[in-house]
Amino acid sequence: MFTLNGKFKAFDKKVWLATPTMHGEELQWMKDAFDKNWMSTVGENINETERIVAQKAGCKYAVGLATGTAALHLAMKLAGIKRGDKVFCTDMTFSATVNPVVYEGGVPVFIDTERDTWNMDPAALEKAFEIYPEVKHIVVANLYGVPAKLDEIRKIADKHRAVIIEDAAESFGATYKGRQTGTFGDIGIISFNGNKIITGSAGGMLLTNDLAQANKARKWSTQSRENAPWYQHEELGYNYRMSNVVAGVVRGQLPHLEEHIAQKRAVYERYKEGFKGLPVTMNPYDGKNSVPNFWLSCLLIDEKAMCRQVRGETEALYIKEHGKSCPTEILETLASFNAEGRPIWKPMHMQPIYRMNPFITTEGDGRGTTNAYIAGGGVDVGADIFTRGLCLPSDNKMTEEEQQKIIEIVRACFD
Ligand SMILES: *Cc1c(COP(=O)(O)O)cnc(C)c1O
Repeated sequence: MFTLNGKFKAFDKKVWLATPTMHGEELQWMKDAFDKNWMSTVGENINETERIVAQKAGCKYAVGLATGTAALHLAMKLAGIKRGDKVFCTDMTFSATVNPVVYEGGVPVFIDTERDTWNMDPAALEKAFEIYPEVKHIVVANLYGVPAKLDEIRKIADKHRAVIIEDAAESFGATYKGRQTGTFGDIGIISFNGNKIITGSAGGMLLTNDLAQANKARKWSTQSRENAPWYQHEELGYNYRMSNVVAGVVRGQLPHLEEHIAQKRAVYERYKEGFKGLPVTMNPYDGKNSVPNFWLSCLLIDEKAMCRQVRGETEALYIKEHGKSCPTEILETLASFNAEGRPIWKPMHMQPIYRMNPFITTEGDGRGTTNAYIAGGGVDVGADIFTRGLCLPSDNKMTEEEQQKIIEIVRACFD
């Protein structure tokens, strides 16, 4: 089937999707925590990291937490999501965006994706409010480091007096109209998971301008102890605080955020250039209003250039066709050359766990449906991007030669 084998050898060293990039200062701050014996969830690294992140993001408070998911959970609590409440959520995203809604007993209602930035579609959101006018919460993510249509979403939220929780886990450092993502929601979160733009090995932060919220999040994250000589509890607590050692890693990474973004942008631009003439496009962004952090570079194959591909719940098949390809072929081929790509996040409304949740789309006959395939024929936007898109190896340590080879491997899939 494949003609590349004569032409290329597999990479000796695996080319990854995205891996941590350490610089040295991380070790210095970890050692500082060790030397001073602040090895727990208190210390200078946490204080400094919170201060620097808040300053960088342009918000008043940043609360250091164990993970981005923990930050989202506390955000859902702060926003007042209660058992049975419907919550409008980004559909095409990592499950960690929406699971915390369910931790609080909320019911995610998935909002279809727009094609300009691959984020929550404001038109579908508006429609969702027509169907469920009582909803008071919106969870919006900035996919792959590309800001959503945040102004339009804010306008709709304000009109319906809804609170926005912004999941900027993937978009730290990206801006929309000059302002940092993570600060457009009433509450925002970022993640320092190992494959994000900068990492603490783990970790996350909650961003807010409200001192009471910041204090609540800090208290809940440290088991909700009251001010008393003994362990006194009035509220449910969590063990969600960031470790001072993890904070040391983040502290060492922070000066390198812009450098990582520049490297990721260069990766994106080289792909864009390298795929000229192929029936594909890169993941889009609004170049007038936003500056993404280019966390992952993604590819979308033109409809007419898709070979036949069938995906079950856990397996995929495709039929090779001359001049055409599909994400399955490209991902399998990259893997055979020791390079790691990834499918687009499979939309939440297509996930077995969320299959019965409402899903709102403007495609097809315009009725919301829980199925990926719309009654009137056609497919919703999320399902379509999932079918035709993929994430390319986007590691910022990938060399230009390695990337050139990736480009040629992808090109050859269309032979
Ligand atoms: C990584 C990620 C999270 C979760 O962050 P963790 O720090 O891994 O818990 C949440 N939302 C999105 C969109 C993510 O990509």
